[in-house]
Amino acid sequence: MGNLPDTSLEYLKGVGPKRASLLRNELGLNNFNDLLHYFPFRYIDKSRFYKIIEITNDLSYVQLKGKITRVETVGQPRSKRLVATLTDNTGKIDLVWFKGIRWYKDKFNPNIEYIVYGKPSLFNNKFNIPHPDIEPVSEQDDILGDTLHGYYSTTEKLKSKGLASKQISKLVKTLLHKLSGHIPENLSVNIIRSLGFISREEALINIHFPRDQKILQKAQARLKFDELFFIQLRLLKYKVNRNKKITGHKFPVVGKYLNNFFNNNLSFELTNAQKKVIKEIRADLGSGRQMNRLLQGDVGSGKTLVAVMAILIALDNGYQACFMAPTEILANQHYNTISRLFQGLDINLNLLTGSIKPAERKDIHESLINGQLHVLVGTHALIEEKVRFKNLGMVIIDEQHRFGVAQRARLWYKNIIPPHILVMTATPIPRTLAMTLYGDLDFSIIDEMPPGRKSVKTYHFYDSKRLKMFGFLKKQIREGRQVYIVYPLIKESEILDLKNLMDGYESILREFPLPEFAVSIVHGQMKSADKDFEMQRFINGKTQIMVATTVIEVGVDIPNASVMIIENAERFGLSQLHQLRGRVGRGGDQSYCLLMSGYKLTAEAKKRLETMVQSSDGFEIAETDLRLRGPGDLQGTQQSGILDLKLANLIKDEKILKYARNLAMEILEDDPELEKPSNIPLLRHLEQINKNQPNWASIG
Ligand code: ADP
Ligand code: MG
Repeated sequence: MGNLPDTSLEYLKGVGPKRASLLRNELGLNNFNDLLHYFPFRYIDKSRFYKIIEITNDLSYVQLKGKITRVETVGQPRSKRLVATLTDNTGKIDLVWFKGIRWYKDKFNPNIEYIVYGKPSLFNNKFNIPHPDIEPVSEQDDILGDTLHGYYSTTEKLKSKGLASKQISKLVKTLLHKLSGHIPENLSVNIIRSLGFISREEALINIHFPRDQKILQKAQARLKFDELFFIQLRLLKYKVNRNKKITGHKFPVVGKYLNNFFNNNLSFELTNAQKKVIKEIRADLGSGRQMNRLLQGDVGSGKTLVAVMAILIALDNGYQACFMAPTEILANQHYNTISRLFQGLDINLNLLTGSIKPAERKDIHESLINGQLHVLVGTHALIEEKVRFKNLGMVIIDEQHRFGVAQRARLWYKNIIPPHILVMTATPIPRTLAMTLYGDLDFSIIDEMPPGRKSVKTYHFYDSKRLKMFGFLKKQIREGRQVYIVYPLIKESEILDLKNLMDGYESILREFPLPEFAVSIVHGQMKSADKDFEMQRFINGKTQIMVATTVIEVGVDIPNASVMIIENAERFGLSQLHQLRGRVGRGGDQSYCLLMSGYKLTAEAKKRLETMVQSSDGFEIAETDLRLRGPGDLQGTQQSGILDLKLANLIKDEKILKYARNLAMEILEDDPELEKPSNIPLLRHLEQINKNQPNWASIG
């Protein structure tokens, strides 16, 4: 027999080619294994019927039984709806459809009883149930036999082709019969026993067809653990293998470059956090393993300095280094910063971006391969095939969210022995998310700001206070400061946003006339040369106001800019707001961030703005962001597929996650290849996962 879980759904009784392709396209279900893991999103207690009179505000879903005593189409064409009145011996309630009116209109027979399931909502002081599930009592077959019925999410298209929740449930039932005895255990007896789990097969049966609430909870607990545990086992095994198979350059020497830098070029004390991180990096570099480290630290916490020291260690040991930034402006800026830091150290540094001329480009390529060039700063241009190093030992990647996984991987392979990698991000990621998303990397965190940094005073202003805001800006500019005014740019409404920005720009020109004030503007529709020109004018202090879309969000460092105005702040995500605010507060002056918004705010938007006003801690803000939005929406996480969790929740299940990670670590320490008999089930299951998600291992 072939591998049953991999069998195409087409071959399941009751499916066939047409339904198989529907299930594939609509729900992403390809094979037996996919359907087996397509869990109900809700369970209905079929043994419990409510009387209409019992409906109260605090009930979420109810099941009712009664007759349809009236059917009526009401409302104007544009707000047309179908209202059917359900009556039992205690009262009446309206069932309402806004869609599918034609289909439901003639469906009801006044002489038979129906079972209705749905969520009551209050409208004009009366309860009704919008879009309930409804079926005649007689058709309530209890093939499933249980009191708790799983509800599967499905689509309108599937429903119209006879694949509503009930039919999916039937297919799962068929599948479970077929797989009976063929669902292998994936945990060792030891783990199962010590955690008091039910078997995997039992868990899978009961997540679909629970006999009661208690067994359902056991099934959920077991499968939730599986989900988190195997992600960790897989990531950590990947890491262990990498460490075993790949030797890293060993950098034992601290030599003249680092020493001279310390003695002559460093004008301040390192913060304790910086010292701690550098120690961690040095330990990696001396270990003979390839470093793969994620450095997290809030904007302005001094990551760049840490990166520079890592580069100097590579140079001290006779290797080259490169520093990759996500945009041309940032690459330029890093190049300038690093040039300044390297002054007098006799280091050859160069810059490679898309706008470097071919002749110069050729020079760079040559000096890289012959080893004359020590350090190359640049953009994506660095990962082009033509860029070859003599001996690349250290790669710094700034703001990793902007780099795709594949792009990063290409840097790994620029040498026979891969270089050490330090990935820096100023978008703090909550620990649980980091453990899952970057679980194969080592983490360093800079959790302390350089001394003397004043926190950015943040206020939320309604649009009615615009004049006051302008007055404040004038005062700041007259004191010699510069200001940013940022507008949202969100793909779906690009045209509107651009208009919004241009209108704002016009009004700012009127409010802040030359010669006293000069205004720069940068937005996504401009040519990159023009953008750079405008940016440069602001950087050089020729303009005092920078009107921009979020293109300036990352990394730009202009210490004299002390005010950040964010227009339509309610439209930005929390981490984006935090990033933007990080553009100010980089110099010695008190800095300000004003969040402008209209009066109409959703509860979530209000919470975001409040969080910004109250907190300046990037990690705290990231946690709130995760809570508000869920991990699926966080930057950079979509393409990974790792966070496609079915049962587990990275916030609520933090304890389980940590436990699972520790357990995975213990097991791998004891048996890195998972070849001990007790670990064979783990290995088999990992192999199965790898087959289904072949690209996943390239994460990191
Ligand atoms: P990040 O890259 O984390 O946003 P940077 O490395 O750009 O932060 O540092 C922000 C500013 O703080 C820079 O101007 C840098 O020179 C300065 N800085 C870094 N470390 C220290 C320190 N230990 N003491 C004082 N200033 C520091
Ligand atoms: Mg930075």
